[in-house]
Amino acid sequence: MKTIIIASNNAHKIEEIETALDFDGWTFQSMRQAGIASDPEETADSFEGNARIKAEAVRALCSGQTAVLADDSGLEVDALDGAPGVRSARYAGEPCDDASNNAKLLRELAQVPADQRTARFVCTLVMLDGDTEYTVRGTIEGSIGFEARGEQGFGYDPLFLPDCLGGNQTFAEVSQERKNAISHRGNALRKLKDRLSAAYL
Ligand code: IMP
Repeated sequence: MKTIIIASNNAHKIEEIETALDFDGWTFQSMRQAGIASDPEETADSFEGNARIKAEAVRALCSGQTAVLADDSGLEVDALDGAPGVRSARYAGEPCDDASNNAKLLRELAQVPADQRTARFVCTLVMLDGDTEYTVRGTIEGSIGFEARGEQGFGYDPLFLPDCLGGNQTFAEVSQERKNAISHRGNALRKLKDRLSAAYL
């Protein structure tokens, strides 16, 4: 039996992680389920750095006894020199709001032609277990559309056109299952599963 605390209370992320890391005898707990509250300032300039900050903050609250898994993710747009990047959640300022973030992104790209709107989603996962750290990064390449389309998902999904869907369907126009099969987070989880299978099984 192994328990891993996920440094998040986001039900969607927790379900996706549990589904991906379906090892016999492993159980996952949200911070709430573990009786922990943690919201450290994400001061790093990389997804990896911020995921480590989240993981270490939770580990400090469980006296280093339990394995902890954290993730950090966001959108990098080439024409904006990688913005919104690590500021993806708060791109349009506080309070965080997907609609205002998407509106700001469309404004910033208003003069940018289709062939220069390339972008990628990035997800970094950091798992700490004792003295061992497992870090993986998943990405998906695509471009930013000229208008929001689709009702699924969250965040920048209505603007993001994955290359592997032919560049004409947004993430918000495909099912959650389809998105997980190709997404940055899905890719990172598959890499972490391989690393953990090699280390623990
Ligand atoms: P966090 O890693 O949960 O803090 O996410 C950072 C921000 O990146 C989110 O608030 C979204 O704006 C954006 N983001 C991360 N992953 C996705 C995704 O799969 N779809 C859409 N937006 C995402």
